[in-house]
Amino acid sequence: MEFFKPLDIQNNEQVPNIENFEKVRCLIIGSGPAGYTAAIYAARANLKPVLYTGLQMGGQLTITTEVENYPGYPDGITGPAMMEDFRKQAERFGTDIRFGIAVKADFSGKSHLVTFDDGKIIEADAIIIATGATARYLGIDAESRYAGMGVSACATCDGFFYKGKDVAVVGGGDTAAEEATYLAGLCRKVYLIVRRDVLRASKAMQQKVFNCGNIEILWEHQATDLFGEDGVEGVVLVKKKGTPEEELVNVRIDGFFLAIGHMPNSEVFKSFINTDQTGYISTIPGTSRTNIPGIFAAGDVQDPVYRQAVTAAGSGCMAAIDAERYLSELH
Ligand code: FAD
Ligand code: NAP
Repeated sequence: MEFFKPLDIQNNEQVPNIENFEKVRCLIIGSGPAGYTAAIYAARANLKPVLYTGLQMGGQLTITTEVENYPGYPDGITGPAMMEDFRKQAERFGTDIRFGIAVKADFSGKSHLVTFDDGKIIEADAIIIATGATARYLGIDAESRYAGMGVSACATCDGFFYKGKDVAVVGGGDTAAEEATYLAGLCRKVYLIVRRDVLRASKAMQQKVFNCGNIEILWEHQATDLFGEDGVEGVVLVKKKGTPEEELVNVRIDGFFLAIGHMPNSEVFKSFINTDQTGYISTIPGTSRTNIPGIFAAGDVQDPVYRQAVTAAGSGCMAAIDAERYLSELH
């Protein structure tokens, strides 16, 4: 514990007891590329950051195999190994890394308070929210059975591994259209599995899909299972589910890509922090600042567009610099 000033929290509803309470200068929530990069910068700026990892230590990249597009690794690197490097670098400069999940925030008063799942309440002068986003999955058992073995939620990341092969993309929105056209440039054949008889994607994106000769749209199809020995070899689909024409269809594929949306992990902060309709935290353009002074956001949780490790890391750097400037003006 750095120091304890009970009077600082007198304006907030939550009144912590002494054992569970700690005051820190800079709190970072999340241990993906954004959180660890913010920690490296904050620690080097002597902000003595405390970083809470959340359930997924290392973030989304810990569930992927090869990362080939992060600069600095000319031969590629596995996601877990890369995030291990990030962690070591953050620790090297003195980041206090802790396991724990933020379950409640109170930014209503003068002090900014975050409660963690072990009951600990942290008061911080500056907080960097780097809690990422989670890809939506269908919820079928096969997705976890073939995790890292042919199932992916990121075509830009994993598409390369399916060069010359056949893949399927699930979804009918702009992301699905974008992923399908991207994959069409790499793969032999792309099946676009659409649950309705229309695409939700914008007309411009739809046109791109229709212009690709190697994309076949499977209208009114829903994926229910995957099969294959040591990886995905095919998908089981139900066509026209719930109608008299309902039938089961097996399609041979090597890769199965989900593109049915992402959910930013902003729920805990949403009653205080402005977000867009989906829940992505709104930041002041060109900065990591949110609507609350002293609260900053970095990485996928505030990025509905790029959602890449390198952009997350870049925005983590921005958040630490913004936090450092904010703190230097505060004291
Ligand atoms: P994340 O990596 O999502 O990390 C979020 C962190 O916040 C986690 O540590 C989590 O535990 C923590 N957290 C969440 N909620 C809480 C909470 N309530 N309390 C405390 N902590 C919390 N990008 C690339 O550039 N190249 C690739 O090859 C690539 N491959 C990918 C493969 C897959 C399968 C996936 C899913 C994504 C891939 N991406 C890739 C995208 C990349 O992983 C993300 O853009 C990047 O990880 C975002 O970083 P982040 O730090 O914003 O969030
Ligand atoms: P989205 O617009 O919400 O579309 C999700 C798609 O997934 C919809 O077609 C939906 O089907 C389908 N879907 C959802 N749950 C499903 C399930 N369980 N089974 C099968 N299909 C399911 O999400 P998004 O495509 O990720 O786009 C998010 C936002 O980012 C949008 O505002 C989009 O315009 C924007 N975006 C823009 C661009 C661009 O401009 N280049 C690129 C990507 C994203 P239904 O249609 O039947 O609901």
